[in-house]
Amino acid sequence: MILENQTVVVTGASRGIGAGIALAMARYGADVVVNYRTGEKEANVVVDQISQMGRSALAVRADVTNEIQVQAMVDTTLNRFGRIDVWVNNAGNNPLNSLPEESSAQWDDVLSLNLKSYFLCCRAVIHHMSQRGSGRIINISSISGQRGGLACDTDYSAAKAGIMGLTRSLARWAAPRGILVNAIAPGYIRTDNMFEVIEPQRLKSFIDAIPLGRFGTAEEVGELAVALAGPAGSYLVGEVVTMNGGTYIA
Ligand code: NAP
Repeated sequence: MILENQTVVVTGASRGIGAGIALAMARYGADVVVNYRTGEKEANVVVDQISQMGRSALAVRADVTNEIQVQAMVDTTLNRFGRIDVWVNNAGNNPLNSLPEESSAQWDDVLSLNLKSYFLCCRAVIHHMSQRGSGRIINISSISGQRGGLACDTDYSAAKAGIMGLTRSLARWAAPRGILVNAIAPGYIRTDNMFEVIEPQRLKSFIDAIPLGRFGTAEEVGELAVALAGPAGSYLVGEVVTMNGGTYIA
């Protein structure tokens, strides 16, 4: 088990991609902190699934846009598990704001969750990892940060592009201290929430634009995250690993 005795924190792990990553980390032997903001019941389902695999898991409520709650989540994790080996910044959302009608407050909210929270979490965990001289940080970005998203995605795309800059720059600081910082940029991944707002006809047009002919799954993102967390990721620094079924072939 390549992640045996490791502790992994996954933000926004009560459902969707975060849950897929949390379950994959546990499948490969890790103990997992399942962060959520509102979905306590869903987070506890993920915790139960991990427990059934024989691993330890803990649901921790924390709004990742709140620096006090982020620090409390780090402290809670260290009290319970004594170490943090891998931190996955995943919590995010895309409210599909159209720029001409968007308020400054809406813009700030999207940037706060999809970019600033990544800074808050990295800052909160990096001291612990630096003291130990090891750690992995995996930031979930998006294909929208690489090529722009939908016409109503300017805020989200800007944040997701920002995550790539944050990842590459922090990786330079972190690598000499034994901490590997990388990102994953998924294309369209089938999750309940991200897709429930999009009409079926539109979803079909998305699939038509994917050379592989299907959406990705949270399990597939989870497997890639495990690769970045484990031995396969030991020489990866500041990379943005794209996975999109061929949607963006640069
Ligand atoms: P999702 O199904 O909407 O899940 C979002 C998760 O984030 C939930 O667990 C939610 O928890 C949590 N969350 C939201 N706000 C939070 C906050 N302030 N503090 C803590 N947790 C919070 O989303 P998803 O589709 O899995 O997407 C996950 C990540 O992948 C996002 O960063 C997204 O941008 C990225 N991504 C998704 C796709 C896609 O096609 N789905 C593609 C590229 C990138 P609660 O329900 O408890 O609030």
